[in-house]
Amino acid sequence: MTSRDSVNPDVEYRRVLRVLQGDRVPEDAPALAKMLKIIMSPELGTDVLISAAGFFVRYARWAKPSSYFANLAPPTVQALLRLGCVAEYAAAHAFRIDAEADAMLSGSEARWVWLRVGQDAVRIAIRPATNGSQPPLATAGLPEPLPFPVRRYATFDEEQRCPHCRSSATTWRYIAPALVCEACGRSFEPDDETLRRAQIAEMIR
Ligand SMILES: [Zn+2]
Repeated sequence: MTSRDSVNPDVEYRRVLRVLQGDRVPEDAPALAKMLKIIMSPELGTDVLISAAGFFVRYARWAKPSSYFANLAPPTVQALLRLGCVAEYAAAHAFRIDAEADAMLSGSEARWVWLRVGQDAVRIAIRPATNGSQPPLATAGLPEPLPFPVRRYATFDEEQRCPHCRSSATTWRYIAPALVCEACGRSFEPDDETLRRAQIAEMIR
Protein backbone atom coordinates (compact mmCIF):
# COMPACT_ATOMS: atom_id res chain seq x y z
CA MET A 1 0.00 0.00 0.00
CA THR A 2 1.13 3.50 -0.76
CA SER A 3 1.20 5.71 2.27
CA ARG A 4 1.32 9.46 2.15
CA ASP A 5 4.74 9.47 3.77
CA SER A 6 6.33 7.31 1.09
CA VAL A 7 5.34 9.73 -1.68
CA ASN A 8 7.56 12.71 -2.44
CA PRO A 9 5.46 15.39 -4.19
CA ASP A 10 8.56 17.18 -5.45
CA VAL A 11 9.84 14.03 -7.19
CA GLU A 12 6.40 13.31 -8.65
CA TYR A 13 6.08 16.87 -9.93
CA ARG A 14 9.38 16.56 -11.80
CA ARG A 15 8.17 13.21 -13.14
CA VAL A 16 5.04 14.97 -14.48
CA LEU A 17 7.26 17.48 -16.30
CA ARG A 18 9.18 14.60 -17.89
CA VAL A 19 5.94 12.87 -18.92
CA LEU A 20 4.98 16.09 -20.68
CA GLN A 21 8.30 15.85 -22.56
CA GLY A 22 7.52 12.32 -23.68
CA ASP A 23 8.79 10.09 -20.87
CA ARG A 24 6.67 7.09 -19.99
CA VAL A 25 5.65 5.95 -16.52
CA PRO A 26 3.97 2.69 -15.49
CA GLU A 27 0.21 2.83 -14.94
CA ASP A 28 -1.63 1.05 -12.16
CA ALA A 29 -4.93 0.57 -14.01
CA PRO A 30 -7.38 0.45 -11.08
CA ALA A 31 -5.81 3.45 -9.31
CA LEU A 32 -5.63 5.38 -12.59
CA ALA A 33 -9.25 4.59 -13.48
CA LYS A 34 -10.34 5.88 -10.07
CA MET A 35 -8.31 9.08 -10.46
CA LEU A 36 -9.66 9.71 -13.97
CA LYS A 37 -13.19 9.31 -12.66
CA ILE A 38 -12.43 11.85 -9.93
CA ILE A 39 -11.24 14.51 -12.36
CA MET A 40 -13.37 13.68 -15.43
CA SER A 41 -16.83 12.99 -14.07
CA PRO A 42 -17.86 16.08 -12.03
CA GLU A 43 -20.62 17.80 -13.96
CA LEU A 44 -19.07 21.28 -14.02
CA GLY A 45 -15.50 20.02 -14.36
CA THR A 46 -12.45 20.23 -12.14
CA ASP A 47 -9.38 22.44 -11.73
CA VAL A 48 -6.21 20.43 -11.19
CA LEU A 49 -2.95 21.76 -9.81
CA ILE A 50 0.27 19.76 -9.71
CA SER A 51 3.32 21.28 -8.07
CA ALA A 52 6.20 20.37 -5.80
CA ALA A 53 3.66 20.78 -2.98
CA GLY A 54 1.36 18.04 -4.23
CA PHE A 55 -1.51 16.98 -6.46
CA PHE A 56 -4.69 18.99 -5.88
CA VAL A 57 -8.15 18.90 -7.41
CA ARG A 58 -10.72 21.62 -6.88
CA TYR A 59 -14.41 21.09 -7.45
CA ALA A 60 -17.02 23.69 -8.31
CA ARG A 61 -18.27 25.62 -5.27
CA TRP A 62 -15.63 24.24 -2.96
CA ALA A 63 -13.03 26.72 -1.87
CA LYS A 64 -10.49 24.22 -0.65
CA PRO A 65 -8.91 21.80 -3.12
CA SER A 66 -8.75 18.09 -2.28
CA SER A 67 -5.30 16.57 -2.07
CA TYR A 68 -4.46 13.24 -3.73
CA PHE A 69 -1.41 10.99 -3.67
CA ALA A 70 1.19 12.81 -5.75
CA ASN A 71 2.42 9.56 -7.31
CA LEU A 72 -0.92 9.39 -9.15
CA ALA A 73 -0.15 12.66 -10.95
CA PRO A 74 2.38 11.38 -13.56
CA PRO A 75 0.21 8.46 -14.82
CA THR A 76 -2.87 10.72 -14.77
CA VAL A 77 -1.20 13.36 -16.94
CA GLN A 78 0.15 10.63 -19.21
CA ALA A 79 -3.34 9.14 -19.60
CA LEU A 80 -4.92 12.53 -20.32
CA LEU A 81 -2.40 13.20 -23.10
CA ARG A 82 -2.92 9.75 -24.56
CA LEU A 83 -6.72 9.95 -24.40
CA GLY A 84 -6.57 13.37 -26.00
CA CYS A 85 -4.19 12.06 -28.70
CA VAL A 86 -1.56 14.63 -27.77
CA ALA A 87 1.81 13.47 -29.00
CA GLU A 88 3.96 16.57 -28.97
CA TYR A 89 5.37 18.57 -26.14
CA ALA A 90 4.03 22.07 -25.63
CA ALA A 91 3.74 24.33 -22.64
CA ALA A 92 0.04 24.74 -23.42
CA HIS A 93 -2.47 22.24 -24.66
CA ALA A 94 -6.19 22.30 -25.36
CA PHE A 95 -7.82 19.06 -26.42
CA ARG A 96 -10.96 16.99 -26.27
CA ILE A 97 -11.46 13.62 -24.61
CA ASP A 98 -14.45 11.54 -25.59
CA ALA A 99 -16.01 9.01 -23.26
CA GLU A 100 -15.42 6.35 -25.90
CA ALA A 101 -11.66 7.00 -25.85
CA ASP A 102 -11.14 4.31 -23.24
CA ALA A 103 -13.15 1.87 -21.16
CA MET A 104 -11.78 3.65 -18.07
CA LEU A 105 -13.96 6.63 -18.99
CA SER A 106 -17.25 4.75 -19.17
CA GLY A 107 -19.94 6.84 -17.56
CA SER A 108 -18.15 10.12 -18.28
CA GLU A 109 -19.30 12.74 -20.75
CA ALA A 110 -17.02 14.31 -23.35
CA ARG A 111 -14.60 16.79 -21.79
CA TRP A 112 -12.43 19.63 -22.91
CA VAL A 113 -9.04 19.70 -21.28
CA TRP A 114 -6.67 22.65 -21.03
CA LEU A 115 -3.19 22.11 -19.71
CA ARG A 116 -0.63 24.77 -18.85
CA VAL A 117 2.94 24.27 -17.77
CA GLY A 118 3.70 27.26 -15.59
CA GLN A 119 6.77 28.45 -13.76
CA ASP A 120 6.22 26.28 -10.72
CA ALA A 121 3.09 24.27 -11.39
CA VAL A 122 1.14 22.39 -14.01
CA ARG A 123 -2.48 23.46 -14.17
CA ILE A 124 -5.19 21.46 -15.85
CA ALA A 125 -8.77 22.65 -16.36
CA ILE A 126 -11.38 20.06 -17.29
CA ARG A 127 -14.78 21.24 -18.48
CA PRO A 128 -17.82 19.68 -20.13
CA ALA A 129 -17.45 19.74 -23.93
CA THR A 130 -20.38 21.97 -24.75
CA ASN A 131 -20.09 22.16 -28.51
CA GLY A 132 -17.63 21.69 -31.33
CA SER A 133 -15.03 19.03 -31.60
CA GLN A 134 -12.20 21.06 -30.07
CA PRO A 135 -12.07 23.36 -27.05
CA PRO A 136 -11.60 27.06 -27.73
CA LEU A 137 -7.88 27.70 -27.80
CA ALA A 138 -7.01 29.36 -24.56
CA THR A 139 -3.84 31.06 -25.69
CA ALA A 140 -3.69 33.54 -22.88
CA GLY A 141 -4.55 31.19 -20.06
CA LEU A 142 -6.90 28.62 -18.71
CA PRO A 143 -10.67 29.02 -18.77
CA GLU A 144 -12.31 30.85 -15.91
CA PRO A 145 -11.80 29.02 -12.62
CA LEU A 146 -14.70 26.98 -11.34
CA PRO A 147 -17.11 28.96 -9.17
CA PHE A 148 -16.18 29.37 -5.54
CA PRO A 149 -18.68 29.26 -2.69
CA VAL A 150 -20.60 32.46 -3.01
CA ARG A 151 -21.48 33.64 0.44
CA ARG A 152 -20.03 33.34 3.89
CA TYR A 153 -21.79 34.33 7.05
CA ALA A 154 -20.46 35.07 10.49
CA THR A 155 -22.72 34.40 13.45
CA PHE A 156 -21.96 35.88 16.88
CA ASP A 157 -23.31 35.01 20.32
CA GLU A 158 -24.00 38.68 20.99
CA GLU A 159 -25.46 41.20 18.63
CA GLN A 160 -22.98 43.32 16.73
CA ARG A 161 -23.74 46.88 15.82
CA CYS A 162 -23.06 48.49 12.44
CA PRO A 163 -20.88 51.58 13.07
CA HIS A 164 -22.45 53.30 10.06
CA CYS A 165 -26.20 52.97 10.62
CA ARG A 166 -26.27 51.56 14.17
CA SER A 167 -28.49 48.61 13.25
CA SER A 168 -27.60 45.36 15.01
CA ALA A 169 -27.70 41.65 14.23
CA THR A 170 -26.09 38.37 15.28
CA THR A 171 -25.53 37.06 11.73
CA TRP A 172 -23.61 39.05 9.16
CA ARG A 173 -22.49 38.55 5.61
CA TYR A 174 -18.73 38.05 5.95
CA ILE A 175 -16.23 39.08 3.29
CA ALA A 176 -12.95 38.64 5.08
CA PRO A 177 -11.93 40.60 6.99
CA ALA A 178 -15.13 42.67 6.95
CA LEU A 179 -18.77 42.28 7.91
CA VAL A 180 -21.35 43.67 5.52
CA CYS A 181 -24.36 45.42 6.95
CA GLU A 182 -27.63 44.19 5.51
CA ALA A 183 -29.42 47.39 6.49
CA CYS A 184 -27.13 49.97 4.92
CA GLY A 185 -24.92 47.85 2.67
CA ARG A 186 -21.71 49.26 4.12
CA SER A 187 -19.01 47.14 5.69
CA PHE A 188 -16.79 47.35 8.73
CA GLU A 189 -14.00 45.34 10.28
CA PRO A 190 -14.62 43.86 13.70
CA ASP A 191 -11.59 43.39 15.90
CA ASP A 192 -9.78 40.06 15.71
CA GLU A 193 -10.97 38.92 19.12
CA THR A 194 -14.63 39.42 18.16
CA LEU A 195 -14.14 37.66 14.86
CA ARG A 196 -12.46 34.69 16.53
CA ARG A 197 -15.60 34.06 18.52
CA ALA A 198 -17.80 34.05 15.43
CA GLN A 199 -19.03 30.96 13.68
CA ILE A 200 -18.30 31.19 9.99
CA ALA A 201 -20.58 29.29 7.65
CA GLU A 202 -20.46 29.00 3.90
CA MET A 203 -23.62 29.04 1.86
CA ILE A 204 -23.48 27.46 -1.53
CA ARG A 205 -25.69 28.91 -4.21
ZN1 LIG B 1 -25.30 49.56 8.56
